Amino acid sequence: MHKASWFIFIKKNMVKKIFILIIFIFSSIFSFAQNEKNLSRPKLIVGIVVDQMRWDYLYRYYDRYGDDGFKRLLHDGFTCENTFINYLPSYTAVGHSVIFSGSVPAIDGIVGNDWIDQLTGKHWYCTEDSTVETVGAAGTDGEMSPHNLLVSTITDELRIATNFQSRVVGVSLKDRAAILPAGHTANGAFWFDDASAHFITSTYYMNDLPDWAKKFNENNEPGKLLSNQWNTLYPINTYTQSTNDNVSWEGKFKGEAAPVFPHNVKNIYTNEHDVIRSTPFGNTLTLDFATAAVNGYDLGTGKATDFLTINCASTDYVGHKYGPNSIEIEDTYLRLDKDLATFFHFLDEKVGKDNYLVFLTADHGAANAIGFMQAHHIPADFLESKKIIAPLNEFLSAQFGVENLLSSFVNYHISFNLKNIQEHKLDYEAVKKASVSFLQKQPGIQFAADIDHIGDAPIPEPIKTKIINGYDSKRCGPVIIIPDPGWFGGQEGGTGTTHGNWNPYDTHIPLIFMGWEIKHGSTNRMVNMSDISPTIAALLHIQMPDGNVGKVISEITN
Ligand SMILES: [Zn+2]
Repeated sequence: MHKASWFIFIKKNMVKKIFILIIFIFSSIFSFAQNEKNLSRPKLIVGIVVDQMRWDYLYRYYDRYGDDGFKRLLHDGFTCENTFINYLPSYTAVGHSVIFSGSVPAIDGIVGNDWIDQLTGKHWYCTEDSTVETVGAAGTDGEMSPHNLLVSTITDELRIATNFQSRVVGVSLKDRAAILPAGHTANGAFWFDDASAHFITSTYYMNDLPDWAKKFNENNEPGKLLSNQWNTLYPINTYTQSTNDNVSWEGKFKGEAAPVFPHNVKNIYTNEHDVIRSTPFGNTLTLDFATAAVNGYDLGTGKATDFLTINCASTDYVGHKYGPNSIEIEDTYLRLDKDLATFFHFLDEKVGKDNYLVFLTADHGAANAIGFMQAHHIPADFLESKKIIAPLNEFLSAQFGVENLLSSFVNYHISFNLKNIQEHKLDYEAVKKASVSFLQKQPGIQFAADIDHIGDAPIPEPIKTKIINGYDSKRCGPVIIIPDPGWFGGQEGGTGTTHGNWNPYDTHIPLIFMGWEIKHGSTNRMVNMSDISPTIAALLHIQMPDGNVGKVISEITN
């Protein structure tokens, strides 16, 4: 072989080798890509619960939202337009437990923000825990933990699935809305302490605040956010989706002659830090603390998927004070829209646009203010407990010859004085039956039922199922009251609004998923709040929580 043919041989050989190498590289990339597809998970999940956000707020203020907040969720994400709460009562602690456990109160044990232990008579606040201490401030506001939550959460399941390599953090102004979503195994849950105006935690999680949280607290952001009055973001005459500013059914801040802008919250803040809760700036503070938590823990940069839960609570405080048709609520949503846009931009930079999965929902909605409804001739009124409980007690005394047969009225549940009933050898079933029959005759009460015999009660769906899903006999009285639509518990002449009932205004909530592998789209199929966690479990290929009764929203996972 002379030189030229040697050269060609080497060349041929090299080409062959290179060819094999290229095939090898391509096939390994291909198989790696396939493996990666099978195991693909987002770097970070952010669950945002907007407190008291009704579904219709997405559209009521749609034309005034910017492109990067609520509209980004709707335009880029997948929206479940008919998401409902499938239990009673529609309260904050209950909603957060169900969103993050896929369960219902009958199983997860969180039957209200408060309840009475039916065996001991002890009053419980949902997250109170006298065995732990406050971290980050003096006082007892940190004596909190998730120990009353009887089930695991999706956040717990993520921690277990990754052998605790995932980090989970919960943030809210409200202790319960930080603690319950983050679950039993969280790395941290942080909430706002009014006395110190600091974010705090409890010894359940840690013995000292992380440095980043201390630094955040030292910055006095609440004071800075309230260094001006609360005025409207845009000229007040552009708030055409709301009533006049000065209406009789709105609440007032301390010292105000009328419930009108500008609200002088700066002066109030000097002595009462909790005023920030009832302004849109409480949401700004919460999202800024959440941003500090992402940076502090470097969430979304580890090997395993991290999970951040955020509750924006100021929408609830403002809603309670002014009601859904106020300029104050409109302004609060327009400002939250801007705060969300800022937060999403931060996540784009920090974690990467396609690397995080965000979902936004609400723990409950809200009724229109009763004054507003009455002004427009729509049936609504206050259900006054003093007009129910004392007369019922008197009626039972007359009927059975024994005084004080009732023991509590909480979350629309009535419980009975079992000791008295036993001592006087009364027929408990007869006492309950007489109570139901009395209650059903009262104005404003649409249904009353003994839940132990709910199968026999002439109550239509979906109310009956919501009653069953909300009933834990250890934590709820057996007789329940369902008010007329538009009615809710309160005192005649009361201002603002509340929530807690089965009706669409309290139970029709937004649910939008965005980012990572979520395709754009929407469904009008009715889904439940308890479907959120199993859907996340399916997306991540992890086990669903241990009390889960929800179903996967397959429009999102397919
Ligand atoms: Zn509320």
